[in-house]
Amino acid sequence: MQGIPIGDVVAEHGSPAFVYDGDALVGQYRGLRESLPEAVDVYYSLKANPNIALFALLEREGAGAEVSSLTELRTALRAGTDPGRIIFLGPGKSRAELEACCEAGVRAVVVESLDELARLDGISRELGVRQPVMLRINPDFQVKRSGLSMGGKARQFGIDQDQVLGARSVLADLRAVRVIGVHAYMGTRILDADTVVDNTERILRLAEEIAERTGIGLDVVDIGGGLGVPYFPKESELDLAALSEGVGAAVERFVDRHPGTRLILESGRYLVAECGVYVLGVRYVKESFGERFAVADGGTNHHMAAVGIGSIVKRNFPIGLIGRKSGEAEVPWHLTGPLCTPADELGKNVDLPADLGPGDLVGVYRSGAYGPTASPVHFLSHGYPAEVLIHNGQIHLIRMRDTPEEMLRRQLLPDFGRSEPTDQS
Ligand SMILES: *Cc1c(COP(=O)(O)O)cnc(C)c1O
Repeated sequence: MQGIPIGDVVAEHGSPAFVYDGDALVGQYRGLRESLPEAVDVYYSLKANPNIALFALLEREGAGAEVSSLTELRTALRAGTDPGRIIFLGPGKSRAELEACCEAGVRAVVVESLDELARLDGISRELGVRQPVMLRINPDFQVKRSGLSMGGKARQFGIDQDQVLGARSVLADLRAVRVIGVHAYMGTRILDADTVVDNTERILRLAEEIAERTGIGLDVVDIGGGLGVPYFPKESELDLAALSEGVGAAVERFVDRHPGTRLILESGRYLVAECGVYVLGVRYVKESFGERFAVADGGTNHHMAAVGIGSIVKRNFPIGLIGRKSGEAEVPWHLTGPLCTPADELGKNVDLPADLGPGDLVGVYRSGAYGPTASPVHFLSHGYPAEVLIHNGQIHLIRMRDTPEEMLRRQLLPDFGRSEPTDQS
């Protein structure tokens, strides 16, 4: 990666580890940025990978932050983001989170229910601030081709389109918060540019209708995102040129009518997935019932997504041998981890060299998004792996591996005393 052998990274920081290519990350951001009209701001969804160093690189490129917890908010602030480039969303925000938003002065709190809107209005009034909010809409329509649909039916996310359209008087009664626009997020893992364009058009139309019917302003319209990356055979890259053309035209028509409105596109997976590789060390190889197993030092505890996102049939992420060339033919291997469950299988029948053995390094590619943060890292108390960033030809440790001492420090052992063992014989 950037001329640095992954083996050197592992020699320094051990395995398993997530290794990120900072140049690739920045390149991916720039590619997206350049495909979008000037009126659209790109906000990074920290949910996809909350590492502060990765976000800091994006932030310096101009990305805003879309955060959903107090720690994500603090991460964005500590990385140096202007609060005016942070939005906070999520269906179950705590009072502490809402207060922190008001105190920091984030660009907008995206409210997900009328109940929450009333709560935030109260908090905002108590704190004496005019907190800007966006209304997250649960539209009547669904995305046709996304990995996971987030709207268009009964959902904990957002406020149903009809309820918002009928909320004119509720909105007029707000005392402290200022409704500055609307938000809609329809689904994730979208690989079809037409779907994104279609979505954007519908969201922009809906935003206009809501503004007309309720009288709210449209300083900001968040068109969601959910741009995907291909992981599996037969999936193909999002056509950025088609996206650029279609979204560009839709936004241009909208901005002609609403010259002051800024748009937001949220993106997590698309920005970080490709820049990360999950690096595993093979510990043992064995055969069972005639099939080959490579047992590695990490598994689904750090990379649940590799088990096959939302699919019943197991599909493998791109997986390959790292650090040496093998002259041997490739044969099918099961790549498993350290967990005591048969589900701990990162790859099934993965083609790897026949002479794979202990000490070899294997990489699971396109692993920068929804890795350890979205996995059961505490299962069997293995903890979080190391995270390493390669940037400008330098190796940076950006998250220390959890240690048993640190993990045990969170557990409390009451003083139960110690009775004499009784003789059971
Ligand atoms: C998860 C999420 C995102 C990020 O989704 P990606 O598919 O990773 O880009 C953005 N916005 C909202 C509201 C989300 O829930």
